[in-house]
Parts: sequence; structure tokens; C-alpha cells
Amino acid sequence: MRYRVVDKKYRFVSAFDTETGAYVRTGVLDDEGCDTGVDPFMASFPHLIDVGVMGHCLHGKSGLCQLAGIGCYQSGPVVEQSNMSLESFRWICEQCRGRTNQLALGGRGDPDCHEHFGELLRISRENMLVPNFTTSGFAFTSEKAELCRRYCGAVAVSWYRNDYTYDAIRILLDAGVKTNVHYVLGNNSINEAIDRMEREDFPEGLNAVIFLLHKPAGLGSEANVLKAEDPRVTRFFQLVDEPHPFKVGMDSCTVPGAIHNCRTVLPESLDTCEGGRFSCYIGPGLGMTPCSFDQGRLYEVQLRDEAGTTIEDAWNSAPFEAFRDRMRGACPGCGMRELCMGGCPLMPEVVLCDSRDREGV
Ligand code: SF4
Ligand code: SF4
Repeated sequence: MRYRVVDKKYRFVSAFDTETGAYVRTGVLDDEGCDTGVDPFMASFPHLIDVGVMGHCLHGKSGLCQLAGIGCYQSGPVVEQSNMSLESFRWICEQCRGRTNQLALGGRGDPDCHEHFGELLRISRENMLVPNFTTSGFAFTSEKAELCRRYCGAVAVSWYRNDYTYDAIRILLDAGVKTNVHYVLGNNSINEAIDRMEREDFPEGLNAVIFLLHKPAGLGSEANVLKAEDPRVTRFFQLVDEPHPFKVGMDSCTVPGAIHNCRTVLPESLDTCEGGRFSCYIGPGLGMTPCSFDQGRLYEVQLRDEAGTTIEDAWNSAPFEAFRDRMRGACPGCGMRELCMGGCPLMPEVVLCDSRDREGV
């Protein structure tokens, strides 16, 4: 199914294909309804919500992520919280119906380990929301894959380089699920990323390999942060520029590096940090932040509090505006400002830019 949403407040139209996940936005429209070519800065309601349905991670306790060299940004091995209730999840979905395209289920652990995993997927679809999620793939089953085939847009398997990683990818692909790999790109993993891209060494049949920039949040270390001047970063983006048997994608946090280094990637296909502009995060306890990496909860607004705060209230709140102001005011002298907006408003140290024009970030 395809549907389009007219954003009257910010004067643009977006369209979303629930089967392919294709998503497009017009520029800001003038009084005659013609596209001015200027990208809208934000939407009047989030188009994508990262919903932290998981409050605790059993695999985290066993050190699965740490063994794979990943410092969980949600501090899964050391923090425990209750999972989001079905009732809270339904409350979210009902507000998003017809306004939000996709839910990225996540939080502290594998969403497929949520006690009501199937129900979460079903409630999403009932409300015309496409659910997606990332899993470690540990102990993944064909029963779970069948639920994914029925309800999900795509499923990503975290690149933990283990037998269970390959097994989960195979189970998902056999079930006909659009399957991606999520690869955390940091100091400790960029050599392998380069090597695998040079040799096209990822499992056959994948839809895409998506690189997610390592951030020093939660258990993620400062030492693992990549630097813009690292020659391996340049080589990595050269490889992103080349054709591969699988699609290559990256999170919006990586976009400043792509802007500086990629030559063939279409600028229209790049979107810098969408936090607080087109997406947000809602945690298991219904704290809403512009981005799931705001682990210090600097910009958090509590939903469903005594005042009955809704998603729309939080979206239009002062903390969310303060977050957006960081992007609005970043790097005024840079010619690439419109594309990049200074990169990450939360962690300036991850921004892959060493330009002299960097300012106010
Ligand atoms: S706030 Fe930072 S970590 Fe979050 S999406 Fe934006 S760039 Fe990425
Ligand atoms: S100077 Fe600022 S806006 Fe320009 S590319 Fe660097 S981080 Fe982005």
C-alpha cells in the first residue's frame, strides 16, 4: 500500500510505500503548491519512531554484545527496566495511525525476545504502521521469522560475526524476509568493514549492509570513536561509492563523512540527523527524546504523565525545540550546511568533519 501525507503546518507532502519502504518528501511548497526545492526542516509529527519496547537484555548479561566488540549504547549488560507494556505500545500506535510510517522496535535487548513480540507486530500493522527491528539473531527461530514475514518491513541482524549471526540471516532469508545487516562502524571494526567490502564478503541474498556509526553513549567508549582525519575513513567512503552486490546504507549520523568523501552518492539520498525533525525515540517507561542516543536524557519529555502529555505535546515541547536549535544554528559559514546541519547535536566528537567552518556544534 502507498499513502501520502500532506503536512499543512510545514507545507510539504510525503509518501510512503508500505511494501518497499520507499519514502519521499517534496520540498517546501509555495502558495501555488509548487515545490520550492527547499527541504522542509521538520514535520508536524514524527514520521519514524524508534520504540524501545525492551527494558532489559538477557543476552547482555551473558556479554554477547561485548564479546562482539560492541559497547551497548543502552547499557544492556548493566541496566534493567521492565519491558514496555502492550497497553503502552497500543497507546503509542493509536496516536501514530495515519501520521507515522514506521516503527523501529528496539530498546535494551532483542525485540523478538519481548514477551508479546507477535502482538507488538500485529498492533503496529492494525494501526497502519510498518514495524522493523534489529536483532542479535541469538537463538532466532523460523517461527519468529514467519511473524516477520507476515508483519515486518525489514529485519536487521547486528553484525556480531558469530554462527548465530549467519544462522539468523539464513532463517530470515529462507522465510522471504527483507534482511539487512547492521554493522557498527568504529575504530575496532573499520578495518574489517573495508576488507569485507573490498572482497564483497557478506552473506548472499542480503538486501543491504547498513553501517551505523559508533557513538560514545552508554557502554560505547570514547576510544572507539572514529576521527574524520583517519585515512581509513576516507578509504571506507571510497568503497561506499563503488557498486556492490548488496546495497550499502548508513545511518544519518554518518552523513557528514559521506558528504565530504563520497563522489557518486546522490546528495538527495542523504539526510542528516533526523532526530527531533522527522524521528524520535520513546523508551520503555514512555520517556520521549529526539534520539535514542540521548542516554543522559537531556531532552527527555515524559509521556502520559499527570498532565496526560501526548506524543504531539512532546514533539512541540521546549526541550525538543532546544535540540532543533542546535541544528538550526550550526556552522553558519559552511556551504554544506543545508545537507549536514552540523551533524550530531548530541555528540560533536562523532561528526566526521574536520572543516574550519565547523562552528557552534
Ligand atoms: S542525535 Fe546524533 S546519534 Fe542521534 S540520530 Fe542524530 S546524529 Fe545520530
Ligand atoms: S562544517 Fe559543519 S555543516 Fe559543514 S560539513 Fe562540517 S559539520 Fe557539516
